[in-house]
Amino acid sequence: MADIIRDVIVIGGGLAGLSAALYLGRSRRDTMLIESGHSMAVWEPDVQNSLGFPEGISGLSLLEKGRAHVTRYGVGIVQDDIREIARHGEVFELQGASEQYRANRLLLATGLTHLPPEIPGVRECLGHSLFFCKDCDAYRVQGKRIVVIGANDEAVEYALAMLTYSPSVSIATNGNDLRCGHIQAEWLKAYQVPVRRDRIVHVEHEDGQIRALHFEKEVRLETEAVFTTRGDVYHAGLAEGVGADLDRDGQIKVNEDMRSSVPGLYAAGCVTPANCQMIIAAGQGATAAQAINRDLFEQSLRTHSLPVYQGGARFGVRGSKESLSASNPASRTFAPE
Ligand SMILES: Cc1cc2nc3c(=O)[nH]c(=O)nc-3n(C[C@H](O)[C@H](O)[C@H](O)COP(=O)(O)OP(=O)(O)OC[C@H]3O[C@@H](n4cnc5c(N)ncnc54)[C@H](O)[C@@H]3O)c2cc1C
Repeated sequence: MADIIRDVIVIGGGLAGLSAALYLGRSRRDTMLIESGHSMAVWEPDVQNSLGFPEGISGLSLLEKGRAHVTRYGVGIVQDDIREIARHGEVFELQGASEQYRANRLLLATGLTHLPPEIPGVRECLGHSLFFCKDCDAYRVQGKRIVVIGANDEAVEYALAMLTYSPSVSIATNGNDLRCGHIQAEWLKAYQVPVRRDRIVHVEHEDGQIRALHFEKEVRLETEAVFTTRGDVYHAGLAEGVGADLDRDGQIKVNEDMRSSVPGLYAAGCVTPANCQMIIAAGQGATAAQAINRDLFEQSLRTHSLPVYQGGARFGVRGSKESLSASNPASRTFAPE
């Protein structure tokens, strides 16, 4: 097992993990960020709802900028895939595909995976004209011919919400029965939203831009944008392994400080019941980092392990010989009589 016990390890290098690591680095905590390189953000070529980028920015660039920002404050970023975590006393032990790691506090920012429908042509259109999130992408498809693929209440409500953006919205159940409540069925009738029930066999597109959906019964439906509600897989297995509570959908339950039900274990971003948006994930990461920092500070007070006042000495920064890091064993500490 690793010799070093970090103050904090963040698992996940998406928006939530990077934002948390930034705050923790600037709080002078000995922090490591471990990630397996599968942030959902890379699927978005043109993020339009991230404050500070009025011309838009690709998800990939946002991550690259985030990594540069985080490393500037001394946080090490490691590529690994964490397979298992265990808690021994107050220390978390992590088993990665390549290495083992230990930390006093652990933040899970492992995200989720949206499941695209398994229809030929779909993959090429992801993020370009096939979307999962109306809050992210409805604005950019205003006035277009939109199809919502889904067969439940969520799909119905999605389609109705899209009427704010376009008068041409229909539902395709892709061969499934439409299982919606009475009130949702009434709404569909009232707003005259067409529902196609046969299977979609092929998505016609040009360079990722959808032109039409082809149905089993040889119907070609001209379409410019598709939203899908098939489902999400939450990457909460590590949390479950150490006994953290999950909700009905499999998301990690957290309180307003992003604490899970396991002491010392925090979670942020799309693996929690948050609205899965980049800026919200980043905000949750920052919230978790603040709570972790407070937690470690209170622990230092309890254990009398803060660095003590050193009169007129010149103070250095992390990495210099004069470093005053709380985790620096060379720091003088206060021992009560
Ligand atoms: C097609 C598409 C378009 C989108 N467009 C937008 C948009 O325009 N605006 C917007 O706000 N949001 C958009 N989103 C949503 C956005 O991507 C998410 O809100 C955001 O990425 C969530 O951040 P996160 O940190 O919670 O998760 P992620 O960014 O998904 O990061 C999760 C991280 O955890 C790592 N990880 C998981 N398990 C492990 C493990 N066991 N060990 C090590 N690392 C692990 C992954 O490799 C990854 O680095 C879009 C999503 C998709 C799919």
